[in-house]
Amino acid sequence: AQERQVHSEKLVAVGELAAGIAHEIRNPLTAIKGFVQILPSSPPEKQIMYSKLINGELNRVENIVNELLVLAKPNVKQYKPANLQASLVEVVYLLEAQANLQNVKLVTQFEEDVPEIVCNENQLKQVFINLTKNAIEATPLGGTLTIQLCTLVDSVEIQFRDTGEGIPPDKLKQLGNPFFTTKESGTGLGLLVSKRIIENHQGSFYIDSQVGTGTTVRIVLPIK
Ligand code: ADP
Ligand code: MG
Repeated sequence: AQERQVHSEKLVAVGELAAGIAHEIRNPLTAIKGFVQILPSSPPEKQIMYSKLINGELNRVENIVNELLVLAKPNVKQYKPANLQASLVEVVYLLEAQANLQNVKLVTQFEEDVPEIVCNENQLKQVFINLTKNAIEATPLGGTLTIQLCTLVDSVEIQFRDTGEGIPPDKLKQLGNPFFTTKESGTGLGLLVSKRIIENHQGSFYIDSQVGTGTTVRIVLPIK
């Protein structure tokens, strides 16, 4: 009887997630459908505007689907030793332009000789990208994001410390709930996916935040 219970609880969780996904994808689809219908009979200047809106909504659907794909089963076969400093440097290159545009200074503090970690490097890069983007987006008035990498006793720690607007306690509790976002065009999947990837690596994921001071995300990954 107990096994059945667990099973039906899982089904409820799947049902809730499915309802959330369906909702998040239906909204942009409804918008796209509406614009496509009025597009042919619209004046040219409106056609350009509608096309842009359609493109924006399509990007939203694409982002949601891409992020959900990561929630699929971890592929342990793709785990290889990787140098996280190199991954972090790549992510900084990737997002430096966006950070500059928003007057966010990216500072790196890498301890020397941090051991390699057996991991899916692409997935960890995805986590680093999500966290860096969140930090930049949370710092609209400019500030600093410090990315730190260091060795603990039998693990490696990566910290993302921003001087952004911070997260009020009631919202902090909701972080990582599927589709929880405070952004106009957010998916509310970045933290959920990031946390899942770290858990798949047997690691830990912590968020600490204070309104007006900033947010620190800390990741601890075991050295196997
Ligand atoms: P999204 O970025 O699409 O909104 P996320 O799961 O990445 O989804 O983040 C969820 C929410 O958590 C954000 O909308 C924001 O309110 C909050 N958040 C995440 N990271 C930070 C941060 N570094 N500073 C302040 N708020 C953050
Ligand atoms: Mg995000």
